[in-house]
Amino acid sequence: MTTRTTLRTPADLASAGVIGPDQVVALEAVARRYAIAVTPAMSKLIRRPDDAIARQFVPDVRELATTPDERTDPIGDAAHSPVEGIVHRYPDRALIKMVHACPVYCRFCFRREMVGPGGAALTGAALERAMAYLQDQTGIWEVIVTGGDPFMLTARRVEALMRRLGEMAHIRVVRWHTRVPIVDPARVSPALVRALRIGGKAVYVGLHANHPEEFTPEAETAIAMLADAGIALVSQSVLLKGVNNDAVTLAALMRRFVENRVQPYYLHHPDLAPGTSHFRVTLDEGQALMTALRGHLSGLAQPTYVLDIPGGHGKVPVGPSFLATASDGAVHVTDRKGVAHLYPPKDSTTP
Ligand SMILES: *Cc1c(COP(=O)(O)O)cnc(C)c1O
Ligand code: SF4
Repeated sequence: MTTRTTLRTPADLASAGVIGPDQVVALEAVARRYAIAVTPAMSKLIRRPDDAIARQFVPDVRELATTPDERTDPIGDAAHSPVEGIVHRYPDRALIKMVHACPVYCRFCFRREMVGPGGAALTGAALERAMAYLQDQTGIWEVIVTGGDPFMLTARRVEALMRRLGEMAHIRVVRWHTRVPIVDPARVSPALVRALRIGGKAVYVGLHANHPEEFTPEAETAIAMLADAGIALVSQSVLLKGVNNDAVTLAALMRRFVENRVQPYYLHHPDLAPGTSHFRVTLDEGQALMTALRGHLSGLAQPTYVLDIPGGHGKVPVGPSFLATASDGAVHVTDRKGVAHLYPPKDSTTP
C-alpha cells in the first residue's frame, strides 16, 4: 500500500487499505491504549493483513488482552533509574532516554507503556541532571542513547549531546539504538551523520530490524551513509511469532545485516510486555532456531540469543549450549549436525 504520510489512526489505516473499514471501531480501543504509527516506508511493504510487516506495526485487538505474567515494566528499568532519563543497571554503561517518540510504534515494544508521541523529550533541568549524573559516575565507559528512538532528535540536538559527552573523558563509547534507518530512512541526513561524529568518541549504532524485507534500497542507502562515515553498526532483532520465527527468515535477516556491514549482535527473546502474548515464542523454539543458524550460516551472521530477565536482573545469553557435562564428569560437545563428541577424545588415533 503506497501512502505519503505516516498512518496514525485506525481511520488512516483503513483509508490506506491496510485494515478493513469494519475493523476501525474495534481498533480505536487499542489506539486509546497504545500509540500507532506506520511510516510510508513500512506501509508500502504491507501486502496482507497478517504478513510480517503488518504484524509488527498494525494494531491488533489481541493487544487488549494482558496475561498474568505480563508487566508494564517488563525489564525492570524503574529499579535502576537514579535520575529521570537515565537507566544504570551495569557498572560500565548507562542508558539515556532522550525522547519518548518513535517513527513507528511496534506492537511488541517492551517500553510500550512509556513510548508515544505525547511524552516529553529530556530537556532543560532534567537533561542537566542526567548530564551531571553521567559526568559524576566515572565508572561509566559507554553511554547508550535510546528512547523512544533517539534518531527522532534533530541533528542540532544530536550535535549538542555529542559535544557534552565529548567533554566527559571517562566516556569512550557512545551507542545509539534506532529503527530510523530502516523505517524512515530519509531522516538519516548528512547533517545527522556529521553530528554523530562530533566529540571524538567511538560511535556505534545498534540497528533494529526484524525481517529481511525491511531492507529497502532507501534503508540500505541510509545504513551505508553511517557505515561510510566510520560509524560501527551492530544489529538487534526481536524473535517474534509470525514475523521471523522460522530458520529461513532469520537466516535471510542475519545475512542482510552482514551484507549491509551491520554486525549481528542480539536476537532478543520477546519481553513480557502487556498485550504481546500473540508474538511470544518459547525458549525451546528460540534455541532450535539458533541451532539451525549455527548449522548453516557464516560465523559473521550469528547473533547472541538473549533474554532480559524480568525484574531488572539484566540480559543473559540463553543458549543453545553445545557443551554437556555428564554426571561422571565427561564432557560432550555437539557438532552442527547434532552429533555429540567426547572431549577430549578417548582414543587420539580415532579421526
Ligand atoms: C540492554 C541494556 C544495556 C545494554 O546491554 P548490552 O548487553 O551492553 O548490549 C545497558 N543498560 C541497560 C539498562 C539495558 O537494558
Ligand atoms: S522503535 Fe523501539 S522503542 Fe519505539 S516502539 Fe519500536 S521497539 Fe519500541
